[in-house]
Amino acid sequence: MDFGFSDEQELFRRTIREGLSTHLTPRLREMEENREIPREAIREMAKMGLLGITVSEEFGGMHADFVTSTIAAEEIGRADITLATAVYFLLEAGWGYIFDKYGQQEAKAEVLPHVTSGEYFLGVASTEPSGGSDVAGEKTLARRVDDKYVVNGEKTYISGVGEAHKYGGGFLLFTKTNPELGHKGMTIIYTPVRDTPGVSVSLIRNMGREGISTGIITLREAELPLKYRVGEENSGFYYAMEGFNNARILVSAATIGAAQRVLEMGVDYIKNREVFGQKLSKFQGVQFQLAEHYAKLEAARALVYKAAWMTDEYYRSSRFSRSEVVKSVSAVKWLGPTFAFDAIRDVATWFGAYGYSKYSLIEASVRGAFSYLMGAEGALNVMKQLLAREILGRDYA
Ligand SMILES: Cc1cc2nc3c(=O)[nH]c(=O)nc-3n(C[C@H](O)[C@H](O)[C@H](O)COP(=O)(O)OP(=O)(O)OC[C@H]3O[C@@H](n4cnc5c(N)ncnc54)[C@H](O)[C@@H]3O)c2cc1C
Repeated sequence: MDFGFSDEQELFRRTIREGLSTHLTPRLREMEENREIPREAIREMAKMGLLGITVSEEFGGMHADFVTSTIAAEEIGRADITLATAVYFLLEAGWGYIFDKYGQQEAKAEVLPHVTSGEYFLGVASTEPSGGSDVAGEKTLARRVDDKYVVNGEKTYISGVGEAHKYGGGFLLFTKTNPELGHKGMTIIYTPVRDTPGVSVSLIRNMGREGISTGIITLREAELPLKYRVGEENSGFYYAMEGFNNARILVSAATIGAAQRVLEMGVDYIKNREVFGQKLSKFQGVQFQLAEHYAKLEAARALVYKAAWMTDEYYRSSRFSRSEVVKSVSAVKWLGPTFAFDAIRDVATWFGAYGYSKYSLIEASVRGAFSYLMGAEGALNVMKQLLAREILGRDYA
């Protein structure tokens, strides 16, 4: 057994760490204030191959596997502890993979090169006003009329709506083409949100991750060509579950990366800050917190790379069953964001009032990490539900 990375993976990590620390990290406060990831940072990330990282070389991607994508997610989380850039990255990596694998050639050639070049944004539009956890219960309807789908419905809390509307791009949008069949009547349709008649967008302000927008997509008799259907009609639920499972690995890696970086910042701080005539690091109350968070993050980090590796093995050789992969991913999607948020919150308190101020960036990290306890690629209880179902078997859960 070998827990190490290959030389190539280590080089990739070093290279992107350097690039991100030059082009992204110095601009985080500006990003928070302007509520947009600087376009130059996006372009630099594209040059590093980070955007649509899983997409085929044919469309400008790296065709990276999930271990490599997980390294990228962890590094982006470290570089942007507010976790906005991680969202941009992981949605394109996770859903770009699904578009590339199941999308139609003409649509892929039209969209994906603009995603990998950093111009377009690609995301996923699943959640509806009636709820996000019950994916099979979604209500957006698509009916086939001649050579197009006519779509009616509303998607909400969708990341990247503002970016896709401003710069181009769109979403893998979940619809029902055969609502009587429940999850077996679901179809995914790529939906560009700029200049598509019948599609309108509006924005929602969130407490954190200010660098990436969140918004609503409203579809009223929106006409989308058949070429935008991703995969088979009525099979969308299965592609959706595959996409969520993959993206969840990257969510966990990003939150763990951010928490590791915040912990390092905390260590530097407590070694220098004096209270009651001693360095803060000398107090056992603080040391125990440090030790506990370090250990939990190490455990989650090991599990996230295991989940990524199992996913790659599943695709390469079916060495693991789908159920085994889902168990690993659901476990780490619960533990990763939970441990990460706990660590970031506690480290923020080490900084005292400074940690609460807009000078520190730690406050932005607390707000950003909290989003991953809410939802973002599946709520925590849903992860536990999936895990229990895979352990018990469907007949007993
Ligand atoms: C910042 C942010 C960005 C997002 N970006 C996107 C995006 O890009 N695309 C997209 O489609 N969605 C996005 N979402 C939505 C996200 O996927 C949903 O929030 C999530 O799926 C949960 O749905 P909900 O908010 O409607 O909560 P609900 O489904 O109403 O759930 C509410 C609560 O009930 C709990 N719960 C649900 N089911 C069970 C159960 N069976 N047992 C016990 N408890 C349960 C949940 O854990 C949750 O705490 C985003 C959310 C946030 C916060």
